[in-house]
Amino acid sequence: MTRSSNLFYQSRLARPMLDRAEGIYLWDTSGKRYLDGSSGAMVSNIGHSNPRVIEAMKKQLDKSSFGYRLHFQNEPAEKLARMTAELMPEGLDRVFFVSGGSEAVESSVKLARQYAITQGNDKRWKVISRFPSYHGGTLGAVALTGYDPLTKPFAPMMREMPKIPAPLCYLDQDNLDDEARGLKYAEMLRDEIIAQGPETVLAFIMEPIGGASTGALVAPDSYYGRIREICDEFGILLIYDEVMTGAGRTGKFVASEHWGITPDIVALSKGFAAGYSPLGAMVAKSDIVDAVLDAGGFLHGFTYAGNPLACAAGTAVLTELQRLDLITNAAAMGEILKSELTTLMDRYPFIGDVRGKGLLLAFELVSDRETMVPLPKGLNAYNRLVDLAYERGLIIYSRRTRGGIEGDHFLVCPPLIINRPQIDEITATLIESLDSMAAEMNL
Ligand code: PLP
Repeated sequence: MTRSSNLFYQSRLARPMLDRAEGIYLWDTSGKRYLDGSSGAMVSNIGHSNPRVIEAMKKQLDKSSFGYRLHFQNEPAEKLARMTAELMPEGLDRVFFVSGGSEAVESSVKLARQYAITQGNDKRWKVISRFPSYHGGTLGAVALTGYDPLTKPFAPMMREMPKIPAPLCYLDQDNLDDEARGLKYAEMLRDEIIAQGPETVLAFIMEPIGGASTGALVAPDSYYGRIREICDEFGILLIYDEVMTGAGRTGKFVASEHWGITPDIVALSKGFAAGYSPLGAMVAKSDIVDAVLDAGGFLHGFTYAGNPLACAAGTAVLTELQRLDLITNAAAMGEILKSELTTLMDRYPFIGDVRGKGLLLAFELVSDRETMVPLPKGLNAYNRLVDLAYERGLIIYSRRTRGGIEGDHFLVCPPLIINRPQIDEITATLIESLDSMAAEMNL
């Protein structure tokens, strides 16, 4: 067997070699252009090759690229922490830097645990999460993740955490209205806390709008407030994993703002430095952080925490987010793109649902829209449609999962700098790709 590369990722899937990127487009080394309809993995929020960000990073590189946090404070990290605190909902103002989403999640859970110890709640260690969900690839984050193919092989190596069903209300065949459904799913948290023993439960972690795990799943409004109430009732910390939803993606800086909810701890990454540098952050309430620091310190940290180059990139990204008013654009363009995707339902009976907020949008394919029965797995639609779009120069993101049952969903999440003609370009290429898939599969 010949070995073509020393590098490996998850599979043998080989894609063209990336040459360059600008705005919402990427080019491979053959010169073919791709519209980045998924911002990579919902990362490139401000678009590619932003000259101001590049300039800020170059400037920082000329000064210093690394200074260890135990030896020096650094101005980019201080500045980014200040900016982040200003952009976050009131009360969430203490910032801890990491290098990615999994690290942000791990940090959140460890901070929660240490806080509980300072409060004399040593017995609290269980972190309830949802099924399906995705919280990252490190073992602690895998323990929280609700997606069997990624978790079960590692089960003997970790302590799996309790799960409650994610509010997949669009699949429910009951007669409840939206508000009642939201409450029904929220009560599942209360039931689980009681079943586990409230004195053992430390925190509840959720993606406020589902990412890859559920395909831009938004719960009914009633869900969010009730979850907060239940956590408060039992003294349980509420952690929002905003790794994908944060940094403006959903039309607010963080998605919790849509419901006026203040979680206790928030995990950020992806759009936070928008791909210009590996960077993430945990943002927490002051009383939590102070209790832990006063009790002797946070027993946690990574070598690259607060890296000056990464933080200079993050600062420049957030500055561009504000200068270009991209959060407003995400909300406005998101409305248009969502309505375009919804219009596709008239043309394709096999599109069962369109959902999401801002520019975190998804559509799901089904055999029957009434019953929401998925397409047969053998059709491999989630791969095929991505490939058909890719051939036509459009990148979208897909998964075949929705809890215990199968389902093909596709995330359409372009950079927040997108404009109306570029949305039309996405729609036109999607139509060509869907036509072609429907013809191939006799849909
Ligand atoms: N949490 C959520 C909601 C995510 O979507 C992801 C990545 O997709 C992660 C955590 C993990 O982030 P990373 O891959 O940067 O470690």
